[in-house]
Amino acid sequence: MSATVLDGNKIAAEIRAEVASEVEKLMEVGMRPGLAVILVGHNPASEIYVRGKVKSSEEVGIYSEKHTPPENVTTEELLELVIGLNLRDEIDGILVQLPLPPQVDSKKVLMAVDPAKDVDGFHPMNVGFLSTQRPGLVPCTPAGVMEILKRSNVPVAGREAVVVGRSDIVGKPVAMLLINGNATVTVCHSKTHDLPAVCRRADILVAAIGRAGMITADFVKPGATVIDVGMNKVTDPEEFRRLFAGNVKREESFKLKGSTLVGDVHPRVAEVAGAITPVPGGVGPLTIAMLMSNTVRSARLRRGNTVSELSRA
Ligand code: NDP
Repeated sequence: MSATVLDGNKIAAEIRAEVASEVEKLMEVGMRPGLAVILVGHNPASEIYVRGKVKSSEEVGIYSEKHTPPENVTTEELLELVIGLNLRDEIDGILVQLPLPPQVDSKKVLMAVDPAKDVDGFHPMNVGFLSTQRPGLVPCTPAGVMEILKRSNVPVAGREAVVVGRSDIVGKPVAMLLINGNATVTVCHSKTHDLPAVCRRADILVAAIGRAGMITADFVKPGATVIDVGMNKVTDPEEFRRLFAGNVKREESFKLKGSTLVGDVHPRVAEVAGAITPVPGGVGPLTIAMLMSNTVRSARLRRGNTVSELSRA
């Protein structure tokens, strides 16, 4: 039997449509949510991500602006830019696209973002809000993982969840959200003993590792829900064969492009799991959708409607 595929593109489109109608309502009361994105230099991957974020903002009606300081920008110059954006009332979200160049003190810049405008949810204040279950801004990819579970009717409360990866950006916040959702959560990392056995306990297994196809079928309890956060570019033909031997469509595209995008979960896990997110088209699309949602949430929290937001949270 093959797992149900959890379609991230479809769920992201649903969320974008909801955000668009919320933006419309806010605009009726003269409040257009605004997002400022800071992109330093010309990192090609970052340029693609930022283009996606700006385009998505336009589609849902969020005002957006892009700031593009040069590669040799100093920490002080970036701080000045961030502080200026903090002071502008019509800007609800500030996103500093990472990585920043080596001469810049990234932590200092991220810490300077007003926590109320921290739509990435990385500021320690928002990390604290999440762990104490107070209304705040939740990191986009972890929030997207929870939306996939919720909108696919995968129950969380009372179930065993295993998260592989403990980064501040993905693993830890996903684990915290699952705890807040009343799952029993185990967090694994590179020093975990007998990882396959721990993973096999999971009703919900989240892989956020950064290693192509590392989670193989023997890590997965039959029928489990598997959420694959990983995004890895595979160029080595031997590695490609380990993952996709016999997949004619992928083989053709690999021959053409010389690379393919793979998650942390081996494709054959679909033969064991009950439900699984694909890569591409799983968690990835949710990240930008949740950024849009966070920008609107930030606008509401900052510019009125605070009471109703608090009562909804
Ligand atoms: P990090 O490199 O920051 O963290 C990786 C985590 O995986 C670490 O906690 C590490 O353990 C753990 N790990 C590494 N190797 C092993 C191993 N052999 N066994 C068990 N655990 C291991 O990565 P991120 O959290 O930033 O990202 C994870 C993946 O998610 C990446 O593929 C990234 O590209 C993808 N990603 C996707 C997004 C999306 O929009 N879909 C957004 C963000 C990330 P330790 O702490 O011990 O080193």
